Amino acid sequence: MPFRQKQLNSVLVKPAGPDCNMGCTYCFYLEKNTLFPESKIHRMSEDVLEEMIKQVMSQAGQEVSFAWQGGEPTLMGLAFFEKAVELQQKYGRGQSVGNGFQTNGIVIDKNWIQFFKEYKFLIGLSLDGPEHIHNRYRHLRGGEGSWSRVVDCAKFMLDEGVAVNALTVVTDYSAQFPEEMYSFHKELGLSYMQFIPCVETDPKNPNKAAPFSVSSEKYGEFLCRMFDLWQSDFEKNTPATFVRFFDSVFYSYVGLEPPECTLLKTCGVYVVIEHNGDVYSCDFFVEPEWKLGNIMQDKLIYMLNSDRQREFGQSKACLPEPCKKCVWLKYCRGGCMKDRIRDPQDKNLNHFCGSFKMFFKHADDRLQRLAAEWKSHQASVREEELQGQSEFLKEKKVGRNDPCPCGSGLKYKKCCGGSG
Ligand code: SF4
Ligand code: SF4
Repeated sequence: MPFRQKQLNSVLVKPAGPDCNMGCTYCFYLEKNTLFPESKIHRMSEDVLEEMIKQVMSQAGQEVSFAWQGGEPTLMGLAFFEKAVELQQKYGRGQSVGNGFQTNGIVIDKNWIQFFKEYKFLIGLSLDGPEHIHNRYRHLRGGEGSWSRVVDCAKFMLDEGVAVNALTVVTDYSAQFPEEMYSFHKELGLSYMQFIPCVETDPKNPNKAAPFSVSSEKYGEFLCRMFDLWQSDFEKNTPATFVRFFDSVFYSYVGLEPPECTLLKTCGVYVVIEHNGDVYSCDFFVEPEWKLGNIMQDKLIYMLNSDRQREFGQSKACLPEPCKKCVWLKYCRGGCMKDRIRDPQDKNLNHFCGSFKMFFKHADDRLQRLAAEWKSHQASVREEELQGQSEFLKEKKVGRNDPCPCGSGLKYKKCCGGSG
């Protein structure tokens, strides 16, 4: 069966490669230095930047997003991003362009904030919660904690009206404090939260998970307690806070495609572009085996649709036996592939399998109910729209043979005016 061509909708860009001005204990990307041994400092050149943006803007559809990440992207300096925006405008063809920017917040000042505001960048700020949690693993290079600088940065950005999401790593330690983390973010004004469970291989003993990794059981409890907090904040059936995992799961419950790739059947929906133009299958698989090419020689759209990327995407659907007969498979999809391999003790089953089972068992009834309420609300909105449309048509006296006012190009009688 022929494969459907994937559209280029988003790219994840690492303009400073793995370089970072912090030294967090759980960072999995710093070690990627070994992939680029030719230099100690990694920076995207203007030539690579221009070629990348030129390609994205000419090959993407009507909506495209750039996710700037690292390492730490602010190491490029503000002028680099001013250039990036200029190039997006130069090569754009009227598309809607989004820019996401993931940062540790250490060097953000008023100039950065002014820029983020002007160009509507959506900021993902790495903040693990209150001081005792954040400083546990998020250190500056000298070993001192970074919490007060990051919190000042969050306040500064929020006060200036920059859109900020909290990116929060869930570790062996922080998993104990979901209530504290949730209310901390909320009180600060960070109502968009993404919690990322941590599992990495222990560098001292590759047969097990690193000690800061969160266990399946602890993460399961964390999800259940967090879900209760999220739901207790609903006002008139609408969430007051946005927790990415719950929002994404909810998409699946109402029959839509979830935005989070971990909940999709297959991977490979985006590509990662490193500072030197090398292109890889996924943020967690920046490794020689999954290098798709380099943008200075190859076209992004071909790399996204290459056999190698398809193979990468399909490997998510190669599920371990327990998943194949699991009642939660339609929502969980076996989780992220990275979480199947970081802890060798898991034997290819997702490290968080137990967490997902605990969570779905805990939240399924409520998610079903919320989904049913949402669908019925959507149906009544649609009915009101149709009612409004029919009154408009009566007023305008659209004839049965006139072009349909909905813009379909069909005759009214063959389109909205059909008797059904
Ligand atoms: S490996 Fe994980 S992060 Fe990468 S595309 Fe697949 S689900 Fe997404
Ligand atoms: S809950 Fe576990 S067994 Fe079920 S689909 Fe998810 S990872 Fe697989």
